[in-house]
Amino acid sequence: MATLPTSCELCPRRCGADRAAGERGVCGAGSELRIARAALHEWEEPPISVGAGSGAVFFSNCPLRCIYCQNAQIACGDHGTDVSEERLTDIFFELAAQGAANINLVTPGHYLPQIAVAVAAARARGFDLPFVFNTSSYERAEVLRAYRDCADVYLADFKYWMSPASDAGARYSHARDYFDVATRALDAMVELAGPPRFDRFEGEDRLIGGVVVRHLLLPGRLDESKKVMSFLWHRYGDAVLYSVMNQYTPLRVFPEAPELDAPVPASDYERLLDALDAMGMPDYFWQEGGAAKESFVPAFDSTGVLPREGA
Ligand code: SF4
Repeated sequence: MATLPTSCELCPRRCGADRAAGERGVCGAGSELRIARAALHEWEEPPISVGAGSGAVFFSNCPLRCIYCQNAQIACGDHGTDVSEERLTDIFFELAAQGAANINLVTPGHYLPQIAVAVAAARARGFDLPFVFNTSSYERAEVLRAYRDCADVYLADFKYWMSPASDAGARYSHARDYFDVATRALDAMVELAGPPRFDRFEGEDRLIGGVVVRHLLLPGRLDESKKVMSFLWHRYGDAVLYSVMNQYTPLRVFPEAPELDAPVPASDYERLLDALDAMGMPDYFWQEGGAAKESFVPAFDSTGVLPREGA
C-alpha cells in the first residue's frame, strides 16, 4: 500500500496538505485514489490511439485547474469513484482485455504514490502495455524522476508563453510560473523517456517510448503560440514529437477572461501551421477542422471504474 505524504509537495503548488490524514490539497485530492472514467479513447494522436484505442484512466482532481478546462467536471469538481490500488491494477488488465494499445494515465501527478504501487503490481503480473503519462507539464522534475517507472511515453502539454511577456499562465491557470516549471519538467521527460520509439500493434505504428509535446491554440493567442512552438523546436528539435491542437472549446462564459468566450478562428490555426512549416518543422500532428465540439468531452460517469457485476 502506498505511503502518502504528510506534507504534500508532489506538484509545484507544494501546498503541504496532510494527504495521509485525508486533508485535501489545492488539487482537491485527499487520501483516496479517485477515478472518473476508465475506457478506450480514440481521440489521442494516431500512434497513441492505435487499434481499438488508448486505455484512458481519467483521474479526478487536478493541481492546475485551468479556467477553460475541457474536463472541468473532474478537474475542478468532485466527480469520480474511490478505488484501491489493487482495483487500479485490475483496471489496467481490463483495458488490455478490451484491446487497449496502452494505458493512458490522464492527469496522474497528484496520485503518483498510489499509481506507482498499481503499476509495479501490474508489471509483476506480466503486464506489458506501455504506460502513457498524460500531463499538463505543471510537474516537478524531481517528482517525475522519482516516479519514472510510471511512464514509458509522456504526452505533455506545453500551454503558455513566458511570464511577464504573457499573462496567460497567471490568468488562465493561476500559475505565473507555468513556462519555467513546464520547461524544467519537459527537460526531465526528454531525458527519462529518450527519443521516440515505435513498434507495430494491430497493423499500425504504436509509440512505445518518447515524448509527444502538445500545444493548444487559444483565442487571441496566435503570436504567443508561434513563440511557444519556435521555443520548443529550437530546444528539442527532433528529440520529441509535436502535436498542435485546435480543439479549444468554450464550455461556459468567462466574465474574468471574455476573450475565451469564442472558438479559435480556423484562419488562426492555419497561420500557426504555416509558421511551423516556415520554421522548418518537418512533421507534426494536427487536427482537422471542426475539432472544437462538446462531443469530444467523454462522459465522466465512472465508466469502467468499478468491477462489473458478476465479474
Ligand atoms: S499534489 Fe495536490 S496536495 Fe500535493 S502539493 Fe500539489 S496541490 Fe497540494
